[in-house]
Order: sequence, then structure tokens, then C-alpha cells
Amino acid sequence: MAIRAWLAAPRRNAIAGAIIMSAVMTTGCAASIRPLPPLSAPIPSTPSDETPGGTSSVPVDATDIEYFDANPLMVPVEGVAPTGVSNSFNERRSGGRTHRANDILVPMGTRVVAAESGTIMRLSQNALGGTTIYMTDDSGRFIFYYAHLEKYAPGLASKEHVLQGELLGYVGKTGNAPVPHLHFQAMRRDPNRRDYWNSPAIDVRTYFTLTGRVRDGDEQ
Ligand SMILES: [Zn+2]
Repeated sequence: MAIRAWLAAPRRNAIAGAIIMSAVMTTGCAASIRPLPPLSAPIPSTPSDETPGGTSSVPVDATDIEYFDANPLMVPVEGVAPTGVSNSFNERRSGGRTHRANDILVPMGTRVVAAESGTIMRLSQNALGGTTIYMTDDSGRFIFYYAHLEKYAPGLASKEHVLQGELLGYVGKTGNAPVPHLHFQAMRRDPNRRDYWNSPAIDVRTYFTLTGRVRDGDEQ
């Protein structure tokens, strides 16, 4: 199958690449539509997956840039360099929505790692994002959302502290993902807002500086 061949040899076949991206765009990457609220959290007045336009977004600001200078952002998929993150933040999705996240297309089962050190906020399943993780970085400034996982790393738990590069799970196509990929969304957290999953997204694609790498000693 052409798509699988392309996945096995990324970036060698531009035509297959166009087909696969078109498949993602046509079907609409699951988490491009807002993830459902985590189960134990308060339910917002407007359910997230019914919000027109998807997650709101804000521009990267000077404080964000200062943060990423001090805390280099890692591509959260093993072996993927910053140039391998798709420029899909502003792509249109079904229902008039905007993606407002970055997709990383890699073969099923590729290891997903923490983009920064931080704390797992919630592991949740939802119809669109499939198997997902919400985490916050150590400063509490950001929320990172990982969607469409095949499965979690063994033993991963809510409230657990993880270090950058720590294994979180494996790339899959759970939810409505048409092909295996990681949907990664960085959001600017407002400490006063309880529905953190509705926080505005920022496009961090050009701020990744580290290639995804599993931490030594975390080789499950
Ligand atoms: Zn996506």
C-alpha cells in the first residue's frame, strides 16, 4: 500500500506525501476538532466539539520565546527532527474548523515522548482524539495535548511528573485519525480557567529545536 511505503520512507515520495496529507485534511484529523472535556472536569457551557472554528489561538509572544530559549522544545516523537513537523496549524478542517495543532506523520507504534518536563494532567479517551494525554510544563505556562495514541507507556499515570524525552506512549490512529500520526497541540494556560482544554493554542512549529529522543534509561 502506497501510504505504508511512504510512511516507511518519510519524505522520499512527495506524491504519496500529498496523498496522505490530503487524506488527513479531507477526513479531518480527529483532534483538529476540539477534544471532549476530560471526564472528571467541569463541563463547559459549550461542548468543545461543537465550537465553530475549533480551538481559539493566540500568537506566540515574547514570554513564550524567552521560555523556549531557556527550555528548548523537543519534537515529541522519537527520531523526528524539527523540520519533520508539518505546517498544519492553520489548515482548514471539516465543519469550518481550523486545525490549530501540528501533526507529525510517522509509522504506527513510533514512540511518543514528553516535549518538555512537566506533569501529566489527565489521560483520557474521546471520540475524536482517541487515546490522549494532557500535560503541563513545569512552569505551568503551557498545556500540551497529545492525541491519536495507539497506547500509553506502561505505568503512565495522571499527576505523574515526567522529564523531557520520557516515554509517554506510542503513535496510533485512535479517534478519527485517517492515518497513524501524532496530533500535538500547545496551549497557553490561564491559571484562572478551569476548562484548561479550551485554552488558546499557539503554533510552536518553528520553536522546536530538539529532535525527538527517548531519555536514557527509559527504553521500554
Ligand atoms: Zn491534528
